[in-house]
Amino acid sequence: MAVRVRIAPSPTGFLHIGTARTALFNWLFARHEGGEFRLRIENTDTSREVAEAVDQIQDSLRWLGLDWDGEHTFQLDRMDDCRKVAEQLVADGKAYSDDGAIRFRMPNEGSTAWDDVVRGRVEVANETIEDVVLVRSDGRPTYNFASPMEDVWDGITHVIRGDDHISNTPKQLNIIRAVGAEVPVYAHAPMLFGTDGKKLSKRHGAQAVEEFREAGYLPETMLNFLALLGWAPDGETTIMSRDELIERFSLERVSPSPSQFDYAKLDWMNGVYIRELPLEDFAHRLVLWLGENGYEWDAELVARTAPLVQEKIAKLSDYPGFAGFFFGDVEPGAADLDGGGPMLAAAEETLASLEPFEAEAIEAALRAAADGLGLKPRQAFQPLRIAVTGSRVSPGLFESMELLGRDVTLSRIRAAAAVAA
Ligand code: GLU
Repeated sequence: MAVRVRIAPSPTGFLHIGTARTALFNWLFARHEGGEFRLRIENTDTSREVAEAVDQIQDSLRWLGLDWDGEHTFQLDRMDDCRKVAEQLVADGKAYSDDGAIRFRMPNEGSTAWDDVVRGRVEVANETIEDVVLVRSDGRPTYNFASPMEDVWDGITHVIRGDDHISNTPKQLNIIRAVGAEVPVYAHAPMLFGTDGKKLSKRHGAQAVEEFREAGYLPETMLNFLALLGWAPDGETTIMSRDELIERFSLERVSPSPSQFDYAKLDWMNGVYIRELPLEDFAHRLVLWLGENGYEWDAELVARTAPLVQEKIAKLSDYPGFAGFFFGDVEPGAADLDGGGPMLAAAEETLASLEPFEAEAIEAALRAAADGLGLKPRQAFQPLRIAVTGSRVSPGLFESMELLGRDVTLSRIRAAAAVAA
């Protein structure tokens, strides 16, 4: 039988990174097995907020490249069916009314057990499982009733979710058995923790997929990084393409121990992916990211600066700070230019008539000028860098000058010389 899995987010806001990791495990499993991945929204109303959250969730899944099969479904649409099943369970003596609510009659003796693909055999004494409410007195079915019923109706073969749901599983299992349906396979993946061992939260950094996108991470980085939160194909491989992840993913290699979300490793990995992009693709991503984040910068100029920054930035969001001097004036501070006067004057003179105004020739001319003043190149180039780029850290100085052109370069050097003097 082909596998069918689902992600069932509650539409309460942005897609949380932990839910995205769970979605990814489901998706990888489905794609590896040639099965289906469904998107099921656990809504309790149809407000505008819900509609917006659904858009957000779908945008984030699409951005990550996690395509779902068929139309997404809404839990709310199945409330009537849930109530009918609850009434039948009452008629069968498997549930009972209690203050207007309907409660499920859990077995009192023995235990409920399942073979969790991640955690192994899990066994819970039935006396510890309460008679869960199926339908509240106001007629609304509960999560612990609606969710397993949807799993049954959707033909879900494997429930892959966070291990914060592990205490719900014996309840859901008994409900599924009571309606005479087949119990799916369960796999509870570990929750995400920060490197300090505490549950991942806002204090650690970005939480929503959307925030990572805004922070300039590439979707392929996120996919690779999230896949390794609790899963590894072996002890070594870290960089894996989407196809390789699909090919190698298995639930058996998901580890039950808490997975650490290391933001520094994420930055490192994003740098690797940025450097691996073909230049044109990298330029294209920069242009898109800038557009999405409110920068109206000339796309052609962005493309021309791309080779100067590709090796040097870890996130697309580093670009404005790093390369913004190509798109607007700089204001170097006097303190940073201190002592740079003679070199600035020498550079202005030598660059004014230099032909061709190209990186290699610029470098040779400026080295000669530094030499003439008895300055070491590093010492000599720092005020020039600050004059032209406004910063101590920048793309290659000579390449930047060539790109800016002679007029802009000279006017910036002149302006800095006036400040330095
Ligand atoms: N709405 C639940 C969650 O996001 C779904 C739990 C489940 O997969 O059963 O955690």
